[in-house]
Amino acid sequence: MSKFEWTNWGGNQTFTAEKFFRPASEEEAIAGIREAVSKGQSVRVAGSGHSFTPIVHTDSLLLDLRALSGVIAIDNVKQRAQVAAGSTIAALGEPLWSAGMSIENQGDIDVQSIAGAIATGTKGSGTAFGSLSSRVISLRIVNGLGEVVDIDGETADYLRAGQVSLGLLGPVLRVGLQLVPAYRLKEENIILPMSEVLRQWDYLLGAYRHFSFWWMPTVRSARMYKLGEVPAGHCFVKLLREVSADEPDIPRGGINRRTDRAYRIYPDGTTDAEFHELEYMVDAADAREAVERMQHLMRTGFPDEISPLQVRWQKADTGYLSPQSGRNSTSISVSGAIGSHYFPFLQAVDRALRPLSARPHWGKLHFLDRRRVSELYPEYPRFMQIRRQMDPHNLFLNPHFAALFA
Ligand SMILES: Cc1cc2nc3c(=O)[nH]c(=O)nc-3n(C[C@H](O)[C@H](O)[C@H](O)COP(=O)(O)OP(=O)(O)OC[C@H]3O[C@@H](n4cnc5c(N)ncnc54)[C@H](O)[C@@H]3O)c2cc1C
Repeated sequence: MSKFEWTNWGGNQTFTAEKFFRPASEEEAIAGIREAVSKGQSVRVAGSGHSFTPIVHTDSLLLDLRALSGVIAIDNVKQRAQVAAGSTIAALGEPLWSAGMSIENQGDIDVQSIAGAIATGTKGSGTAFGSLSSRVISLRIVNGLGEVVDIDGETADYLRAGQVSLGLLGPVLRVGLQLVPAYRLKEENIILPMSEVLRQWDYLLGAYRHFSFWWMPTVRSARMYKLGEVPAGHCFVKLLREVSADEPDIPRGGINRRTDRAYRIYPDGTTDAEFHELEYMVDAADAREAVERMQHLMRTGFPDEISPLQVRWQKADTGYLSPQSGRNSTSISVSGAIGSHYFPFLQAVDRALRPLSARPHWGKLHFLDRRRVSELYPEYPRFMQIRRQMDPHNLFLNPHFAALFA
């Protein structure tokens, strides 16, 4: 264990941890956490560092669980798997495929650790699918007393608290996932004028497994996300549909024309860029209004902001702190360009979407305070009870979370 300076992927979060520990096994991880707990030291886990908020920070013990990787157990009948918490989503694709299974839905990148991804409610797009967290059926967590706690459907309220836990219940060592039979995807991305996206909106939502789009306020916008050349006022529309096993693979047809195993299609490469993102989830029934508010704001108030506006959909789930909790959702995201003074823009976005009871992605920039969290999440009191039971000495809080959950 030694002092360690940590920086996230976006380069906007840096801190120095007193101790850094990368255990080689679950037993080593448990021993390291117990030692910290016995000394009353705080503990946080670093995933792949792909969050933009200060949610990994600790001045005490920073754990890196990347060595805990891979599939631990598979249940072919129930289509489930237990995986090690430090596994990247990418590392799970091949072994699950070999067992005849796939993750139901994924986001735009797959380099996150599975535990880090579910900690913040990471998701993709598709009205029929919830976030990765919604597919979590069990967790192994070391609590703030150093006890190893196995949570599953038998302890349903703990599971609901653990599905999007922000690491506040303790380091997660194992994640149980409900999977689906292995499936393949065809990507058929297109460029459309915004007026056409609005006209075809309902059709595209129904016809494709995944429909999402980026609206470009300026001609420079598409380049920010490496989306090629897209005229201002047009959208890069991402369309994925499931295809049968006998459709030939087109693995290298470019981002817009690919057919392959699902886990190879989801990571789209569009995010290989430099930006700091904000993403808010609104009720899917308010999606069009949210998009209109954002377009108005960007055109009239912030014509110099070039960020594309990304729009995606998710099914409601039951995680206490899930942004999709209890409502089918549409996510709206924009980014500040690194190096630019983007906070006034993002604050204006917060004000524009706040009347729609927008809930932020926990891993992306937001402006919540404790009162807003308690208003936005009806199950906040129950989460707080479970948090206090799991972490009676507040060892898993850091300053960012103390402001929201102390
Ligand atoms: C380029 C880019 C693209 C993205 N695309 C998407 C997308 O398509 N959809 C989407 O929803 N989000 C997306 N995100 C956001 C990202 O998925 C989340 O921020 C996710 O939480 C990052 O996972 P990570 O492994 O990097 O975790 P980190 O950011 O390292 O950590 C996230 C949180 O999880 C905690 N944590 C990590 N591991 C554990 C553990 N084992 N036990 C307990 N707590 C733990 C950390 O302490 C921290 O609080 C994107 C981010 C970037 C930078």
